[in-house]
Amino acid sequence: MGGYGSGRRSGKTSVERCRALGVNQLQRAGLLEAGATGQWVWHCDDAEIGRIGFTLEAGRITLRYCWQDRFEKWLPVLEGINLTYVDCHFGGVRPYFECPGVVNARPCWRRVGKLFAAGRYFLCRHCYDLGYDSQSEPPQDRLLRRADKLRMTLGGPLGAMDGIPARPKVMWQRTYHRTASEIERCERQADLIALNKYHYVLSPQERERHFSGL
Ligand SMILES: [Zn+2]
Repeated sequence: MGGYGSGRRSGKTSVERCRALGVNQLQRAGLLEAGATGQWVWHCDDAEIGRIGFTLEAGRITLRYCWQDRFEKWLPVLEGINLTYVDCHFGGVRPYFECPGVVNARPCWRRVGKLFAAGRYFLCRHCYDLGYDSQSEPPQDRLLRRADKLRMTLGGPLGAMDGIPARPKVMWQRTYHRTASEIERCERQADLIALNKYHYVLSPQERERHFSGL
């Protein structure tokens, strides 16, 4: 069983400086199958910089690793994370982690693609309040963040899973339509970026369905 060091936090930590576990990377490596077991290793310039063990059951991944606290003591950690699958706008399903974080006694349960090791556990960037180094936020995230900001002006919910929120009574019809179409544009664009990134895992028929007429 491997592990990783905590490092010292100064100011707002960025996602780029944390070890990240990506649900899409696990899926592409064929590791999201029930019964799968193995190790996930991080490298930097060909040198190993971290390693965790994991086991998959139906709908749940359990991580096993050692974490070094600020007194440089290594502590064993066992962390269970639920997986959930959501229908994509353009067909197929997309896996997500359900963040197991608890902040101010409130469970997070956000559906996220990546969890970050900014502390003892792998949690979402919201739980750790992680920022992005300037200019390095991926365009897909920037689009989804913009869509969420606009969703907030409509009173939520956030995320592309629940359709466009209804028009608040105090909002002009025209403003609502403009906001709703901008949300749709951002989320559709983000989906296309994701599809482009992973188009090689699609069958020719799926590719035809997603990309024809665009
Ligand atoms: Zn979280």
